[in-house]
Amino acid sequence: MEYSGPTDLFIDGEWRSSADGATITTEDPATEAPYATVQKAGAADVDDAVAAAAAAVERGSEWRELDLGARRTALHEMADAIEEMKDEIALVESHDNGKTPFEAGLEIDMVIDTFRHYAGAVDKVRGDQIPVSGGRLDYTRREPVGVTAHIAPWNYPFQLAGRGVAPALATGNSVVLKPSSTTPLSALYYAKAAEEAGLPDGVVNVVPGSGSEAGSALAGHEGVDHVTFTGSTGVGKTIQRDAADAVADVTLELGGKGPAVVFPDADLEAAARGVQYGIFMNAGQMCWANSRLVVHEDVHDELVDRLVDIAESIPLGGGIDDDGQMGPVVSESHQQDVLEYIETGREEGATVAAGGGVPDDPETGHFVEPTVLTDVDNDMTVAREEIFGPVLSVIEVSDEDEALAVANDSPFGLTACVWTSDLSRAHRLADALEYGMVMVNETPNTWPQVPFGGTKDSGHGAAQGEEALRAYTEVKNVHINFD
Ligand code: NAD
Repeated sequence: MEYSGPTDLFIDGEWRSSADGATITTEDPATEAPYATVQKAGAADVDDAVAAAAAAVERGSEWRELDLGARRTALHEMADAIEEMKDEIALVESHDNGKTPFEAGLEIDMVIDTFRHYAGAVDKVRGDQIPVSGGRLDYTRREPVGVTAHIAPWNYPFQLAGRGVAPALATGNSVVLKPSSTTPLSALYYAKAAEEAGLPDGVVNVVPGSGSEAGSALAGHEGVDHVTFTGSTGVGKTIQRDAADAVADVTLELGGKGPAVVFPDADLEAAARGVQYGIFMNAGQMCWANSRLVVHEDVHDELVDRLVDIAESIPLGGGIDDDGQMGPVVSESHQQDVLEYIETGREEGATVAAGGGVPDDPETGHFVEPTVLTDVDNDMTVAREEIFGPVLSVIEVSDEDEALAVANDSPFGLTACVWTSDLSRAHRLADALEYGMVMVNETPNTWPQVPFGGTKDSGHGAAQGEEALRAYTEVKNVHINFD
């Protein structure tokens, strides 16, 4: 089906072409055919978007100081608009990214929940009253930071933009959103939703463009007060340096190499299904993927057998026209990167127990077979680097201490999953795992009200939950001497 959604930049409440007339043409990863052409923002367009966002901040009464009930209603109206467009956005996301419509639908549902959650939070951003000596009153207020920039990746283009945009709006800020040039389409629907909800001009601006031009211009812009970046660790470091020039605060949501740690006392069927989701959902293109299976020797063979059966039985397909349960990866170059990692694994001594290549069917599309690598040592490249594809690296361990040491021995620290029926062990590991998120007897899972973030090379700061409300507000201390 042809793309009939928005194609222009959205700046200061207007749909417009880019200043230099440049465009981006996207490809459908399942058909390898061009899908849509949209305007491509450059540095001049980013300047305009930031100026519009800053002007909206200056006109405080329209949004920043708007009656809280009216701001709550506006966020609910954005959620309503997204809900009405849900089927369309999900289809566009499937064609743009390659994920199945089922997977895309989960993304849109999460965004609707996120907007409704933060609509309810507009009157819950509280300060503290702090005891001080003498006849004095000391208290804090939390005030909107002003202009917030949101730079989003291609793996969950709609959801990962929305989890920043919703709390930034709820706390009275303006937004400039730059989606990935690989998947620029769904972000434009935030502009449609903002229009539909009647948000003032300049409060929401959407500027699809490249990272090197639009992204870089936005991250280092003097007019930006906070940058939320979700993407790779390498680019995250650059963003933090760029934002330093404007003394802008930064939330960094970066890569991962998450372990699923499975003990002999676990429900193995549940663990196998959990790891299936954790590595093959979204074709493994997930920051919080269970990309390392750290499994006790007593249950290694049985669990690997189950996972090999699962990997070999997942129907592949673009999802639009058939019953595919795993789509292609996002592009040909990314497919090549994933295949190279599998080859490196082989060369370093891993055994390919399932998959390992490009499937015969479907013939078209950037597919990679669901892959299980066994005999992996935690020092191998496939255990240390983020592959960002449907590739599970299995590492065998012989006791809890070794499992913990292997799980923590990673440059990343985003999500760790633990499978055990021993309550004490579950708590011991929740305490000792050096990860921003630990899940017990659970596949990677989240909700708008809980914090999402990592440690080490996985970033700092957290999206979602009350943490996001703090990230998009500045604390002000007020001190009154009434003696
Ligand atoms: P990426 O770092 O290549 O790009 C992310 C965004 O940054 C894109 O919009 C891109 O255009 C922009 N960008 C690139 N160079 C830039 C620059 N110099 N200045 C400013 N912006 C720039 O990441 P990707 O390939 O789109 O996404 C995959 C990565 O994202 C993986 O590493 C994955 O783990 C990570 N990720 C993290 C989370 C999380 O919550 N921690 C979630 C999803 C994805």
